[in-house]
Amino acid sequence: TPPSGAPRPRLTFLGTGYLGATYAICFAELGYEVIGFDVDAEKIARLAAGQVPFHEPGLDELLRRNLATGRLRFSTDMAEVAEFGDVHFICVGTPQRPGGMGADLSYVESAVTELSQHLTRKALIVGKSTVPVGTAEWIEQLVEKHVPAELGVEVAWSPEFLQEGFAVEDVLRPNRVVVGVRSDWANGMLYAVHKGVFDLAVTEDREVPLVVTDFATAELVKVAANAFLATKISFINAMAEVCEVAGGDVTQLAKAIGYDPRIGNRFLQAGIGFGGGCLPKDIRAFQARAQELGAGEALRFLHEVDLINQRRRARVVHLAAELLGRRSGPAGPDLSGTRVAVLGATFKPNSDDVRDAPSLAVAVALLKAGAQVRVFDPEGMANARRAHPELTYAAGMAEACQDADLVCVLTEWTDFRNADPVALGEIVAGRRVVDGRNCLDPGMWTRAGWEYRGMGRP
Ligand code: NAD
Repeated sequence: TPPSGAPRPRLTFLGTGYLGATYAICFAELGYEVIGFDVDAEKIARLAAGQVPFHEPGLDELLRRNLATGRLRFSTDMAEVAEFGDVHFICVGTPQRPGGMGADLSYVESAVTELSQHLTRKALIVGKSTVPVGTAEWIEQLVEKHVPAELGVEVAWSPEFLQEGFAVEDVLRPNRVVVGVRSDWANGMLYAVHKGVFDLAVTEDREVPLVVTDFATAELVKVAANAFLATKISFINAMAEVCEVAGGDVTQLAKAIGYDPRIGNRFLQAGIGFGGGCLPKDIRAFQARAQELGAGEALRFLHEVDLINQRRRARVVHLAAELLGRRSGPAGPDLSGTRVAVLGATFKPNSDDVRDAPSLAVAVALLKAGAQVRVFDPEGMANARRAHPELTYAAGMAEACQDADLVCVLTEWTDFRNADPVALGEIVAGRRVVDGRNCLDPGMWTRAGWEYRGMGRP
């Protein structure tokens, strides 16, 4: 615990994507003075002008409010950032390396190197991006190389667990704070950084557990959590596969096993599997790192988790062919001459993130199988167009479904869940629906004359 009345540290966030921008904005909201930094000048200009460059519920208002207070600024000037901050958070991307399973740490390296070259006073550099275990130590070496020892710059790790779509809530009201530290000073600084979060919890009569640990454990907590979540999803999707051949209903199975509190009902929805900028790349990078460390066997199951996940995408194409009365050859089904509406492009609802989105992977697979595909998503259209210009996009749900032989619901946006099967039935050419997220009421759709296929449902 720092001495009471200790000044609040000034914070910087390097990398203002989904993670860094949300953090910068929310910590300004908690009363800290903050600068968000990015190498993407356009992103910084938009943020400085009060526009969140991605879709995250509630974030726009907080951004504008905190810009107005003067507590929150955005910059592309590293000298300004280095001079300003007591604590610098590394929030840059760590994507999958092209052609490999490991994480690409080049953005982390350049952010830390540039910051280090500009530091003129003692500060704490805190890693927040998801990284392979051992990265914090490597950053210490980078800092040692570039920063004079007498400045006493230190490194710490604090993994992040926010979920897109709930990011504001997750940052202001996290279910835990994890810090990996090497010194009492770093520990005290990170306590001071999170004091706003702890104080808010006290006023709301909640508790936020704080786990103080070493570097390796802090780094591993994040990838272990993601490995567990991915496994939970693939577990229920494996049960869906079995239900599909045995004639069971995985939604009822999930409900029934979820009543056991040891299992729990969350993250137990069978469907077309997980995607996004985190889970898929994180479980691969974790396997790659474990292999480097000689513990590859321990994580071999994650390979299976990944395979189950990929098979779900193929399953949608199979169901589409079945509904459309097309046989599968050795090269997969031939869907030429069919028109398919794909509802959903983002990897989950309430986000515009299309990174490794199962919905778009399926849309591309349907297109490759010969179908004419029209995609609509409430928030993800711009990103989807950029990622997959080969697909055709519609301006709305009705336009996507007009004259379609088949409708595939692949992201569970509320608008799709609440779609009226009677009205949609009037505009399609054939009432066939694949419910890739088991988010529709099969009875309602069947009564409206639709042939319905869910995932792992009879
Ligand atoms: P993102 O791609 O949205 O943002 C990364 C940002 O870093 C971009 O704006 C990019 O311009 C910037 N950047 C790249 N190089 C830079 C540099 N040298 N200096 C400053 N900025 C630089 O990615 P994201 O989703 O925000 O993820 C960032 C990290 O956080 C990843 O490691 C990810 O795994 C982790 N994470 C993400 C989430 C999430 O829900 N998105 C949750 C927890 C952890």
